[in-house]
Amino acid sequence: MTEPAPTPIYCANHPGRETGLRCHRCDKPICYECAIKTPVGQICSDCYKSARAKYYNGEVYDLPIGIAIGFIMGGLIGALSYLFLGRIPFLGFIIAFIAGPAAGGAVAEVLRRGLRRRRAQGMKPGATIAFVVGFLAAGFFLVGFPSMFFFWSALLLGALAASTLYARLL
Ligand SMILES: [Zn+2]
Ligand SMILES: [Zn+2]
Repeated sequence: MTEPAPTPIYCANHPGRETGLRCHRCDKPICYECAIKTPVGQICSDCYKSARAKYYNGEVYDLPIGIAIGFIMGGLIGALSYLFLGRIPFLGFIIAFIAGPAAGGAVAEVLRRGLRRRRAQGMKPGATIAFVVGFLAAGFFLVGFPSMFFFWSALLLGALAASTLYARLL
């Protein structure tokens, strides 16, 4: 007597390819090439896409709104930095070290509240770049080019704020 061979299972995307692997979420057979590694196990691309769509629950206007908020806040913080920090040569640096990360954290919080904690894809780089552009635009209008690149304490504050903002955003 011979044992009946177990019915071979084939990858859902590659009909000719036998596999022993199944999607961790929907149980669909998938091959190693189709499997996507996640912290909860190997899943198929359909499940990956729907999980991703659920994570990024932002709405269409969220990213443009986030970019606008980043730009405006960058402009405001830039204006304050260029107007006041440049006038206090040594203390300006100390203030920049303290106020930079605080300002970045505040912008991140404004964004989070403004978007009601929704996550939009591309927000992290988008809002950070908008912040930097707004910051430099304020410098350009207040002190002009190329002087804006010699206000070291203002630039330091802007850089610290931007890196904190980037780190805080999702
Ligand atoms: Zn699946
Ligand atoms: Zn496959």
